[in-house]
Amino acid sequence: MSSRRRIVLLGATGSIGSSTLRVIEGHRDRLELVGVVARSRLDELAQIARRFDVPHVGLYEPGSEAAPERLAHLLPKGARFYRGIDGVSELAATTGADVVLVASSGTAALRPTLAAIQAGKTIALANKEILVLAGRLVTDAARTHGVRLIPVDSEHNAIFQCLDGAHPRHIRRLVLTASGGAFRDTPTEQLAHVTPEQALAHPNWSMGPKITVDSATMANKGLEVIEARWLFNVTPGQIDVVIHPQSIVHSMVEFVDGSILAQLSPPSMTFAIQHALLHPDRAPGVVPTLDFSQVMRLEFRPCETDRYPCLALAREALAAGGTATAVYNAANEVAVAAFLARRIAFLEIPAIVRTSLGTIPVREASNLEEILAVEQEARAAADRLISR
Ligand code: NAD
Ligand code: MG
Repeated sequence: MSSRRRIVLLGATGSIGSSTLRVIEGHRDRLELVGVVARSRLDELAQIARRFDVPHVGLYEPGSEAAPERLAHLLPKGARFYRGIDGVSELAATTGADVVLVASSGTAALRPTLAAIQAGKTIALANKEILVLAGRLVTDAARTHGVRLIPVDSEHNAIFQCLDGAHPRHIRRLVLTASGGAFRDTPTEQLAHVTPEQALAHPNWSMGPKITVDSATMANKGLEVIEARWLFNVTPGQIDVVIHPQSIVHSMVEFVDGSILAQLSPPSMTFAIQHALLHPDRAPGVVPTLDFSQVMRLEFRPCETDRYPCLALAREALAAGGTATAVYNAANEVAVAAFLARRIAFLEIPAIVRTSLGTIPVREASNLEEILAVEQEARAAADRLISR
């Protein structure tokens, strides 16, 4: 069984993490889990480690729960434990993985991902925040080390599949599809009063809370436009967004001759995850595929810009360049957390992002420390706006 592909999974306890476990479970003859990481919640992570007999286990933020006697009791026999960002970076880079699947949320994965790239690991990238924070740094590092970044975000995975090595000269534009989120049919005058519960009721996808709120504001699509710019090296003007309420066409590529290729599958992240983990091989999926014996409607509508100010703000940040997208992401993250904690109203999310972008000067950050400093500054600025 030595030919199995060895996987390190960052963010094993999350929504993408659990879909990934399902894919690995269904392909134990091809895939082997050699490392798992979460932020905290050792019990839950250790349970995964025991279920898959994982030899390397790490926590980004280990607390007193990770005392040596508890580790000895909870982890599989002989497993090694890794602590904090340094430990997670070591785990990602040195444990003999073939592929590191980056599925932890937020920007904590930036350093571990860079470490894995430097060690020559293939990166399957579900996390979008690190490309928004440091797209140039990450893609330059991948190029320098000859490492492949395989997108797992469903839109980008769809585009990756449609492109299939196409010549850049042949690409006219990328068309990202968007479900429109929980409020796509809510009259805009009601948006001021919507609650976290309503924002979390996504019509099609079951995901973590932060990204579900981002779907409702379309900050998620904004992050994805920025992500696409870095993954596919196209200009922002070549990236379009269209509302597709059914979430079956995951995205499309239009070529210069007018032909459009699309990737379709039911709205389950297992398709993109499995594609990325087995690439370039393929195998039967782990959930049912589309059923054409039933009537199926595929609808496309233009995206109303006034309903989704966060999308326009993402484009402004991308046009401003430098650290502006890092500010966009940090301000949005702080604002979404405050909305979920009922400290601010839904429409204050774009307001905080807009004010943060307007007040923090754009810089050309060239290294990790500078980028992380700007991120801290943006978080603090957004925090002050919320406390006011
Ligand atoms: P989630 O909240 O369900 O899980 C997040 C995982 O990351 C957990 O394992 C958690 O322990 C870890 N984590 C959370 N905060 C952390 C922090 N501050 N530092 C380190 N680790 C932390 O999130 P999710 O929905 O699985 O999304 C994970 C990533 O994948 C995000 O970047 C998201 O944008 C991206 N993504 C998710 C989906 C989806 O369908 N859920 C789709 C596309 C992309
Ligand atoms: Mg997506």
